[in-house]
Amino acid sequence: SAQPADSWLDGLNPQQREAVMTTEGPVLMLAGAGTGKTAALTARLANLLRQRLAWPSEILCVTFTNKAAREMRERVGALIGPAVEGMPWLGTFHSIAAKMLRRHAELVGLQSTFTIIDTDDQLRLLKQLIQAEGIDDKRWPAKQLAGLIDKWKNRGLNPADLDALENEAYANGKGQRFYALYQNRLKDLNACDFGDLTLHMLNIFRRERDILESWQQRFKYVMVDEYQDTNAVQYLWLRLLAQTRKNICVVGDDDQSIYSWRGAEVANILRFEKDFPGAKVIKLEQNYRSTPHILGAASGLIAENSERLGKTLWTEIDGGEMVKAIGVWDGPEEARRVGEDIERLEREGAPLDRVAILVRAQFQTREFEDRFIQIGLGYRIVGGFRFYERAEIRDALAYLRIIASPQDDLAFERIYNTPKRGLGDKTLEKLHRHARARSLPLSVAAVEILDTDELPARARGTLSALMRNFAKWRDDAKMLVPSELIRTILDESGYTGALQAEKTAEATGRLENLTELARAMEEYETLGDFLEHVSLVMDNEAASDTEKVTIMTIHAAKGLEFDNVFLPGWEEGVFPSQRALDEGGLASLEEERRLAYVAITRARRHCTILHAANRRIYGQWTSSIPSRFIAELPAEHVEEETTLSGGASMWRANWSERDDPFAHLALAKPGRDMSRGPGWQRAAAQVFDKNPRRIPEATRSAASFAAKPRNDIGIG
Ligand code: ATP
Ligand code: MG
Repeated sequence: SAQPADSWLDGLNPQQREAVMTTEGPVLMLAGAGTGKTAALTARLANLLRQRLAWPSEILCVTFTNKAAREMRERVGALIGPAVEGMPWLGTFHSIAAKMLRRHAELVGLQSTFTIIDTDDQLRLLKQLIQAEGIDDKRWPAKQLAGLIDKWKNRGLNPADLDALENEAYANGKGQRFYALYQNRLKDLNACDFGDLTLHMLNIFRRERDILESWQQRFKYVMVDEYQDTNAVQYLWLRLLAQTRKNICVVGDDDQSIYSWRGAEVANILRFEKDFPGAKVIKLEQNYRSTPHILGAASGLIAENSERLGKTLWTEIDGGEMVKAIGVWDGPEEARRVGEDIERLEREGAPLDRVAILVRAQFQTREFEDRFIQIGLGYRIVGGFRFYERAEIRDALAYLRIIASPQDDLAFERIYNTPKRGLGDKTLEKLHRHARARSLPLSVAAVEILDTDELPARARGTLSALMRNFAKWRDDAKMLVPSELIRTILDESGYTGALQAEKTAEATGRLENLTELARAMEEYETLGDFLEHVSLVMDNEAASDTEKVTIMTIHAAKGLEFDNVFLPGWEEGVFPSQRALDEGGLASLEEERRLAYVAITRARRHCTILHAANRRIYGQWTSSIPSRFIAELPAEHVEEETTLSGGASMWRANWSERDDPFAHLALAKPGRDMSRGPGWQRAAAQVFDKNPRRIPEATRSAASFAAKPRNDIGIG
């Protein structure tokens, strides 16, 4: 990116250049990992600006993560200079929709200061509703309801849109009622959840022609990266925005669709050509990222999937090592081994910020953290809401939220007795009753109730002090920068003091985290900005530190690349996940495989896969067997190594020699060539040996696959 702009554009291949130069009309760029889709999209954005075809504020550009948006902004900045600073509509679906919604909030019954609640708050809210309605939340868990509501929202359905079947899905026909109750409650709280952001905007577009038209006029160009992971509501939203001008360019890769559990629909790729007739379809086949072995391993793996459009990739990059598959005894040894390898890389002069450990599940990070702290290896955890999920951080944020939005009852409940100040459930009950009777938020009801004789003297005194503090902090918020504000609040609320008094290692850790929070807030000028950031971050935006190894989930690593990639935990039950094995049948297994494809294709130079023979999962030791995905890697691209006696290759050999009890299931996969080495059905046999409990799932998924007509499972 340090090169001058023109030479960079010259560096694009003809297909990429075509995508850049086709500024008018619909464009679909469909290509495999590392083929320069994002690079082309970035160049396209730069070109539109440089040609003055649009002002920065007239381009809508959707990326999958905030980090990707930042990178794109930086890259375009390097190409065309500071004009890019005013790109208000470059960001994730969530951040863009949130920004739009703040302008029209009143149309959906919210104020522009609305709070965006996270899944934790969502669950608490639903639980309250379920209990208030007298439903047994053991039998009908809030989590299930939350999942359904998310699903409906991702499909663009409002409560009134649900059909009888969907209504039946929760508490014998109460789905619709609870969905509606939940939406009303959110309105009272001046809040919305993530799914609401796009759905509210879609509802507004559908109802208010003139508003839709003004946005259609504004956006001369629409662009979307990682298009394969858009869900139905996002797609409808995009389609509306691009409908009049039809200058929409989307780029994606069906093999990297890894969010179907969140409602993403690969079929959107095929729909695009229908909805935008005459779309120019551009395919890229040259991979600029990875060595031939890495590419070969990844391509061989993804070829096992049946539901794909299919494409070939090639690279001009020479040489490179085979992908390594290393078997170790247990989790700690796995972390030790990765630590040693990274230290060796460091000695050889490899920059650590180009090294990543990509995990399937969040719980896997712990072991690496422990080890790296021990050996003094710098690392940062990226992804999820890890940092902001910690209890003390959530408490601090609750204080800030109630300052920013007095209607935020969830925040109020969280901190009204945190730290402990002797305000019990009785008082809260009275507050609730008063609030309900007068239709007030809790924090306002709390002020009113002080004028009555409902509370005993002690509770009244304490509550009154707290309310005076709230009022003071609201004034402070107008004067102080956010980082100062939080320090003040934590001091004056007694929160810091309570932790200091504990004098435990854990409390010290919590204090450190709070310091870190204040530090993170220094970047923000207003409280609103910061809270918006918190609700939207998908990665804990630690300062990019060149001396640190990145640890993150594969999901969060989509679109990124690293010189060295370590992929731990490739074991049946971890990756593919037990959940995918248990529930999902073939579709979820193929999604796991796409995830594995994403993982391997993050690597530029070296890719190391690890599997442990013993693993402690949620506190229990289990013996595990290597992932079927390892067996599916073409042997000519993989070098196996093991620290176990007997050797990792032993199980591979065992596999091919074994009398395969599931050989007949191979028929369940049309077009599969059984001579190509051990496939998943042999892995199933292997799983069976170790853990008979698992086999019914394998059988079921294969059988259900066989039962489906072929054209039912393709995306065509
Ligand atoms: P993914 O599917 O993983 O998102 P992608 O298709 O978006 O991958 P990019 O990240 O845009 O691929 O590009 C992969 C790498 O190839 C980057 O390092 C990029 O700088 C480089 N690259 C892209 N196009 C070219 C080109 N024409 N010449 C040389 N290098 C290129
Ligand atoms: Mg990309």
